[in-house]
Amino acid sequence: MISGRLRDTKLIVNLGAIRHNIQEQQKQLAPNSKIFAVVKANAYGNGLVPVAQTAIGAGATGACVAILDEALELRDNGITKLILVLGITPVENAHVAAEAGVSLTVGSLDWLKNYHQLASANHWTKPLKVHLGIDSGMGRIGFTTVESFNEAVKFVREHHEFEFEGMFTHFATADSADDSYFNKQVNKWEQFVSSLTELPPFVHMANSATGMWHREKITANTVRMGISMYGQNPSGRELAATLDLQPVEQLVTSISFVKKLKAGESVSYGATYTAQEDEWLATLPIGYADGYPRCMTGYKVLVDGQFCDIAGRVCMDQMMIRLPKPYPVGTQVVLMGRSGNKEITANDLADRADTINYEIMTNISNRVHRVYTD
Ligand SMILES: *Cc1c(COP(=O)(O)O)cnc(C)c1O
Repeated sequence: MISGRLRDTKLIVNLGAIRHNIQEQQKQLAPNSKIFAVVKANAYGNGLVPVAQTAIGAGATGACVAILDEALELRDNGITKLILVLGITPVENAHVAAEAGVSLTVGSLDWLKNYHQLASANHWTKPLKVHLGIDSGMGRIGFTTVESFNEAVKFVREHHEFEFEGMFTHFATADSADDSYFNKQVNKWEQFVSSLTELPPFVHMANSATGMWHREKITANTVRMGISMYGQNPSGRELAATLDLQPVEQLVTSISFVKKLKAGESVSYGATYTAQEDEWLATLPIGYADGYPRCMTGYKVLVDGQFCDIAGRVCMDQMMIRLPKPYPVGTQVVLMGRSGNKEITANDLADRADTINYEIMTNISNRVHRVYTD
């Protein structure tokens, strides 16, 4: 093998922390509650298959992904548990899900009718497992009225090419200190639930934020655990976490080049940074193409337990930092995570980049090797 994983720029993923975070959530739920591990978007950047395997090993009943391709990648890698696609799958691809035993989200009667036609015409017999999505106020996908939902339930139950496996909703403001919109959604959801005399096996309403701040309102048997499984606070900083979460990932690199910059010399594109006095400068082999945002220009990283300023613009593949003293090539640099007693969190990066921790995590590009620890 000529290609390798020779790069020092790594996302170090602590699988033990994933296990810990799942157990923390499980402890807080009603007995017999189940957890679906949300592993969409390459497990929020942490690696689809290793994270799914770890979560299932820690007791998750199933995994949620955004698109069918992600579900098939899990099946191809030997994951046999329930896998639910949370987005809408084009009806012409749905038989692939049925074949693979992947569960799909359905949000309209039309979709069911179209699949019924295709299945009849093609003599597909393997039942497609469906979770009916309920739009209680997110405004994204799903049934908005109890009547349309009941029609769909009836259609699913009357046609043997479907298996009614689940129903769920999703909240828009579960991570907010203001509960009013959340409570409205709960009320609407409860109308859907109480409209059925017999519920499907999986009834789910809670994302991480609901599992953290609205546990007493969960009228469902399964929690979809996303960001909290990765040790991050769903609200950023708005609400204090109610679980003892461990951050799962660290973004690190190592110094590739060191030099002395003379007073008056400039660094990087646009020559926006000029040394005021002689100083030590290190180059790092990481840039915005790795998902470290270009707007971090002027921010800081950690070297040997100390904050060091980023000097000049972050480039596509490299960036420069100012060192307090010369450090050798190969010295580890932490861009997100802990060094000594200092830490740069996903929230710190998100605040600086004017976004949320989710986006920082999911933007770490494929070029960054994922390295697993326990
Ligand atoms: C992404 C997603 C989740 C997980 O959300 P977190 O805030 O990360 O817990 C749960 N449910 C649905 C429908 C989603 O799209």
